[in-house]
Amino acid sequence: MIVVIGAGISGLLLSKRVKADLILEEQPVIGGVFASDNVFGKDLPYVLPIINDPAKLPNIEFNYLEYDLKLSHRKYDYFEDKICKYCDKLPTWLNFGLMRKLYVIENITAFIDNLSKNVRIIKEYPIRIDDKKIITNKGNMYKYTRVYNTASLKKMYKLLGVDSSNLKHKAALTLLILTRKTNNKNWNVYLSGDTADSFSVVIKLDNIIKDLDLYYVYSFMDITQKSIDIDRVMLDLKRRQIISLDEIIAFRSKLISEALLFGEINHKITLNMVNCGRLGEWKNYDVIETISRIQNC
Ligand SMILES: Cc1cc2nc3c(=O)[nH]c(=O)nc-3n(C[C@H](O)[C@H](O)[C@H](O)COP(=O)(O)OP(=O)(O)OC[C@H]3O[C@@H](n4cnc5c(N)ncnc54)[C@H](O)[C@@H]3O)c2cc1C
Repeated sequence: MIVVIGAGISGLLLSKRVKADLILEEQPVIGGVFASDNVFGKDLPYVLPIINDPAKLPNIEFNYLEYDLKLSHRKYDYFEDKICKYCDKLPTWLNFGLMRKLYVIENITAFIDNLSKNVRIIKEYPIRIDDKKIITNKGNMYKYTRVYNTASLKKMYKLLGVDSSNLKHKAALTLLILTRKTNNKNWNVYLSGDTADSFSVVIKLDNIIKDLDLYYVYSFMDITQKSIDIDRVMLDLKRRQIISLDEIIAFRSKLISEALLFGEINHKITLNMVNCGRLGEWKNYDVIETISRIQNC
């Protein structure tokens, strides 16, 4: 039996390529970082799928929206360090300085839904694994001939008793906020390198749901740091006059604990296991890199 671990874009794409018998997924929802929720009749991903260059889109039916990029900064010189001081470089999706326009994939949810058809996805995760079988949190046992792991390499190391202290990460608290339409701002991407602000990135889109403005707000935090909570982010947004709390109609939040990845992989897993995707390879791949790399993983 061929088992894939993780039902993000990598796991779903891989399951087709390797003709997997089943996918194990830890979360109640599929899609990984790009899981979505239906808000006022519209499927909105918890994280906005931005692409730098649509010309690099793989041969996949993505539709994308295009906006002029209007940047506003606060203490921009410190932005990179605030987000991830020890990352080699910022992931492409945070490198707004290199973007010519703001391109957003419009149909990521439909893409994920489509990929999840005709695949057996079981909402369980491994708590024990050896060279023949996986035992899950629900007490089920799956014998395998090959495992493709697109879930956290760090968690996998822990299960196998391998030292994972070299694999480091930062967490992200992401907020999706819908407000009543407000007066036009002169920016659609606001970046704060100011450590007094709990958030680092705010993206505003105004034509997704009629008469409403849609904001994505990202805060990044060290796992050792006192965690940033939603109230603090909301108050900081209010203090900087970015979002007036009285205008908020709905919001969703998601904590991604392994969001920005750094540190070295210095072990090889010897089981019949192949590690793929951003978490399996422990690399900050963007969605285009993820899709193209999965073909050869
Ligand atoms: C905050 C954030 C914003 C991003 N924004 C962009 C962007 O705008 N544009 C862009 O191109 N890229 C962006 N990316 C990168 C993009 O998300 C990835 O390239 C892509 O989603 C990777 O897909 P994946 O399947 O490899 O990983 P993930 O989407 O992380 O999926 C991994 C899956 O494995 C599951 N899993 C984890 N552990 C276990 C376990 N033990 N057992 C079973 N299942 C498990 C998870 O629940 C998840 O479903 C962003 C990433 C982050 C963190």
